[in-house]
Amino acid sequence: MSTSLTVERKRLTIHRWPPRKGPLITLVVALISEVMSRTLLDIPLVAPLFLPIVYTAFREGREAGLISAGITVLYALYIFAIPGQPLHYTFNGMIRVAVVVGTAPGLAVLVGMFKNRVEREYTEALRMQDYQNLLLQSVNDAIIATDIDLQIQIWNPASEMIYGWQAAQVQGKAIDEVIPILRYGDGSSREQALAMLKEQAHWSGRVVQRHRDGHELQIETAMRAIYDADRRVIGYVSVNRDITEQQHARAERERLHQQLESERARFEAVLCQMPAGVAIAEAPSGKLVLGNEQLARILRYPFFPAANIAEYDRYRGFHHDRRPYQAEEWPLARSILTGEVVVDEEIDVLRGDGTTGTICVSSTPIRDRHGNITAAVSTFYDVTERRRGEEHQRFLAQAGSILADSLDYESTIASVVHLAIPHLADWCIVHLLGEDGTLQRPAVAHVNSDLEGLIREIQRRRPIDDDPESPIMEVLHSGRAQMVSEVSDDQLRYVSYDEEHYQALQRLGFKSYMIVPLLAHGRTLGAATFVSANHCYTDDDLAQAAELMRRCALAVDNARLYREAQQAVRTRNELILIVSHDLKNPLSAIKGYANFLQRRGGRDLPGVDWLEDGLSKIDATTKKMTGLLNELLDFARLQEGQTIDLDLLPTDLVALVRQTVAEYQQATDHHQISVVADVPSLVGLYDTSRLERVLANLLSNAIKYSPDGGEITVEVTQVAAPEAHVLINVRDHGLGIPANDLPHIFEPFHRAHNVVGRVRGTGIGLTSAKQIVEQHGGTLTVQSAEGSGSTFTIRLPLTTVTPDDQPL
Ligand code: ADP
Repeated sequence: MSTSLTVERKRLTIHRWPPRKGPLITLVVALISEVMSRTLLDIPLVAPLFLPIVYTAFREGREAGLISAGITVLYALYIFAIPGQPLHYTFNGMIRVAVVVGTAPGLAVLVGMFKNRVEREYTEALRMQDYQNLLLQSVNDAIIATDIDLQIQIWNPASEMIYGWQAAQVQGKAIDEVIPILRYGDGSSREQALAMLKEQAHWSGRVVQRHRDGHELQIETAMRAIYDADRRVIGYVSVNRDITEQQHARAERERLHQQLESERARFEAVLCQMPAGVAIAEAPSGKLVLGNEQLARILRYPFFPAANIAEYDRYRGFHHDRRPYQAEEWPLARSILTGEVVVDEEIDVLRGDGTTGTICVSSTPIRDRHGNITAAVSTFYDVTERRRGEEHQRFLAQAGSILADSLDYESTIASVVHLAIPHLADWCIVHLLGEDGTLQRPAVAHVNSDLEGLIREIQRRRPIDDDPESPIMEVLHSGRAQMVSEVSDDQLRYVSYDEEHYQALQRLGFKSYMIVPLLAHGRTLGAATFVSANHCYTDDDLAQAAELMRRCALAVDNARLYREAQQAVRTRNELILIVSHDLKNPLSAIKGYANFLQRRGGRDLPGVDWLEDGLSKIDATTKKMTGLLNELLDFARLQEGQTIDLDLLPTDLVALVRQTVAEYQQATDHHQISVVADVPSLVGLYDTSRLERVLANLLSNAIKYSPDGGEITVEVTQVAAPEAHVLINVRDHGLGIPANDLPHIFEPFHRAHNVVGRVRGTGIGLTSAKQIVEQHGGTLTVQSAEGSGSTFTIRLPLTTVTPDDQPL
């Protein structure tokens, strides 16, 4: 460390040589005094010897002083003796000797003591100065002393370190030149600081000064005036501490603190704003250290800061099988205990308001860098509504499939009523109005099926239609649902007919109820009563029940309509069967008479063309009508599920086609019907008249649906492999069939929309044609496009004919 500017230090060396020199000097002075007193003065001279005594005692100490005093005493004994008589004295001489003896040793002792004291004090002063120097050198604060003009006098090593200036460079310079103050921490000015220093003799504060290399220093300074013994200010001393680093560190600390604070605030804001509930627990204790507001909102009770995992059982959770969650089964506990990461575990919970809900919980452990679990965090979502919605959809889907399963609505309603238990109610009754408006026997269900008998018994004893003011009757009349969320005991007593009824309702459980009408197409078909034993119904429950009942009502309505339609079809078919059958007899009679007249007329009235012509037309028409009646009969039989017995005979299909075409060509001038057959004849076993009807139907359609005329082609093709069969195509270039109608064209009564209202027809010809072909083991198909004509294809198996079979 470099030397400081300090008060010049003179070390006073204390000579401690042996007491030789002083006594010797005393001897010399005694000799000189002797010589001088014998020669020049002629009087005894002792006084000069006191000087060496003082000198010796001060320089060499008391002992040496006493030796010098002894020499002086000896000299006095010698010099004051009567001349020639040693040790004999005059009175005066004796007095003088006595004075010397009395003073010289005393003087030596006194000076010796004074010397010791001076020496001690000086040594002490030196020691103090040493301490001060040591202090100045060893402190870390810059200690700078100035004179009254603020010129630097002391500049300790720490000052050199802090400000970068060496002591020698700054000595005597104005402190303001070397380390001017750039700014005052408290905003005060240099003048204010100086004024305060002068007034109060001290000033302290924070300032900004500059290092020799130019960078700024944050300095904490304390300045004081230095006084002399007369309390006059002779200068100033300042102690300056470099707090730049400290300030930086503090600023950094504050920045980090603020950052931490803002992160914490952000974290808290995120936690609060999160739609999820969050709980954080310490490991390994499981102490819950945080639970956000959302958690309390979801559970509907305040966050309970459990002190350990065992206390988690204060939170009431249940598995899907209603088994309660043990404390260590909670996801948060598992994450702490085993490090398990739990994802979306659904837990039923008992909420603070006594209701149940479902939460979806995820949980994960938090580990330190060594992998040890230090905490765990768990998030919670309320999925009660979603779960209910899913259950509701599942329930409706189940109900829907039950309802769609059968058209027997009485048993279906009974199944749905059971399905509503326990999802919608603890017990349920459905009353249906019959077609005649009377109430049918109700369908009932109870979670405890043993109690269903009790419900029926109540119904039997007091049928609800006995009491027109009963809520069920009101709903049946108004078609509007009713709901009572909570039935008090008084209300239950009020609605009970008697004590027994009250007791029975209590046994069944009666906390809340809703009555929902079964409405379809504006008609009330019945009412369903849902009763809950411990849950208070809400509007949501009512909406669910209404939705279920809407579907039930539609199913009931559809089933009823279906029954009615079935009945109507049956009646129609019976009518067709009877009428067709009854019409066949008079027709056969007409045909018989026409044939008879043809035979007789030809014989009795030859040449009467008009008669023959008329009779043959009657014959043809009755044949056509018989064909139509047969078609109706077949159709009605097949619709009734009866089979028709084919009358299989060897039939030449080519000949049958040609004959039918010839008949139809006669009936039209607009169309040219041609037959293309790749073989002259094709004989197989077929029901001739029925196949003729099929061909007739296809030909008459081809003509009917080609209103502008045109060509109609009938192709007969024999196909040998893989199975021998015949294809008969009937092709026209008429209206064609729209794509939407094509898939339904063989269904009974279906008529394409491009012909309805334009061309008359019944829509049963193709149905029975297809059935006949299929009964032959063949197929009837169609290819068509609207505006491009149609091609109907009959595919018939080619059966072998034995010689016994008679050809047509
Ligand atoms: P109908 O001809 O009495 O209406 P069909 O059962 O014979 O009853 O025919 C059913 C429907 O098929 C017809 O109404 C018509 O729309 C369509 N159809 C049948 N044949 C043809 C055809 N050749 N060209 C166009 N449409 C046809």
